[in-house]
Amino acid sequence: MSGKAPGGATENMVGLANSNGNLLEVKNLRKYYPVKKGVFARVSEYVKAVDDVSFELKRGETLGLVGESGCGKTTTGRTILRLIEPTSGEAFFNGTPLFQLRGEGLRRTRKHMQIIFQDPYGSLNPRMTVGGIVTEGMAAHDLYPKRERVERAQQLLQRVGLEREHFYRYPHEFSGGQRQRIGIARALAIEPEFIVCDEPVSALDVSIQAQIINLLADLKAEFGLSYLFIAHDLSVVEHISDRVAVMYLGKIVEQAKTEDLFGNSLHPYTQALLASVPSLEPGQRRQRQTLPGDVPSPLHPPAGCPFHPRCPEVMDACRTQPPGMIDKGNGHLVACHLYSIETATTGSKPAQSNITTQPS
Ligand code: SF4
Repeated sequence: MSGKAPGGATENMVGLANSNGNLLEVKNLRKYYPVKKGVFARVSEYVKAVDDVSFELKRGETLGLVGESGCGKTTTGRTILRLIEPTSGEAFFNGTPLFQLRGEGLRRTRKHMQIIFQDPYGSLNPRMTVGGIVTEGMAAHDLYPKRERVERAQQLLQRVGLEREHFYRYPHEFSGGQRQRIGIARALAIEPEFIVCDEPVSALDVSIQAQIINLLADLKAEFGLSYLFIAHDLSVVEHISDRVAVMYLGKIVEQAKTEDLFGNSLHPYTQALLASVPSLEPGQRRQRQTLPGDVPSPLHPPAGCPFHPRCPEVMDACRTQPPGMIDKGNGHLVACHLYSIETATTGSKPAQSNITTQPS
């Protein structure tokens, strides 16, 4: 490959972040929304929707991003796709620095990244036929001769469980599950490598959810896709994810392989989330617990650890000092004083290399 990478980034820039095999690297991502007050509409404070978020996604991997409503997971996904502009931070896609892309470079890179939206009703243009919706991206990126686009779109409709003749119908003629299949076909139409699945099943009936999740898993294997899978339903995330990151109030508080997170969660917030899910295993009646209190406003996040007003393990240090991210081994990361204090009192402070994120 010679010349320039998408967006005018040089080959050297690409090589920098791509040497470790990650498809996506997000570093210290922040998205702050200014709040204006007074007659002069001066910016007086900021809503910190996403606050110092870092993670990596390997090629062919699914990273689940979970947390309660308003924790910043959707903003994170949309900022990476540049549907929302970041306040600061870096993101590298295939080594290309995403936030430096402009114009044609951004358009070309976007061809490799798609999104499946939560709302299968609002995300499809009611005035366009299904065929128009699915082929729109192909036309925008000048993919395939015109006649081939129809054939390819009809093949995709079949692949996602619809009929070829649905190409000529309108979105209002379909059920919620069928509309989500149209949204998936639209995302696949331009042959992306990476898809942000933004709560793709939360608006669907439970009976349909499993079908769509299984379809997404099959398509991932068939087309070599990588997913950032955003959801608040832990059982859905456990089913489809290779790794899971848990967000609270704009920050990632724990990140681990799926089996480690669900089998040995470390952060009190993750433990509370898991305890709030009823067990479906016969004979294994888990005591269902609910978290006390509401998620605090991101406009005025609590000092110290943002989870401290709701945490059953809260200590004095939690009220004033934000915990840094600590690697507990096997890629299991956690931001909680329970573990930094534990290592400090046993005299085995984590090595500097184990601390992946300093408190902001
Ligand atoms: Fe709870 Fe403190 Fe850990 Fe925060 S740092 S989760 S308040 S124990």
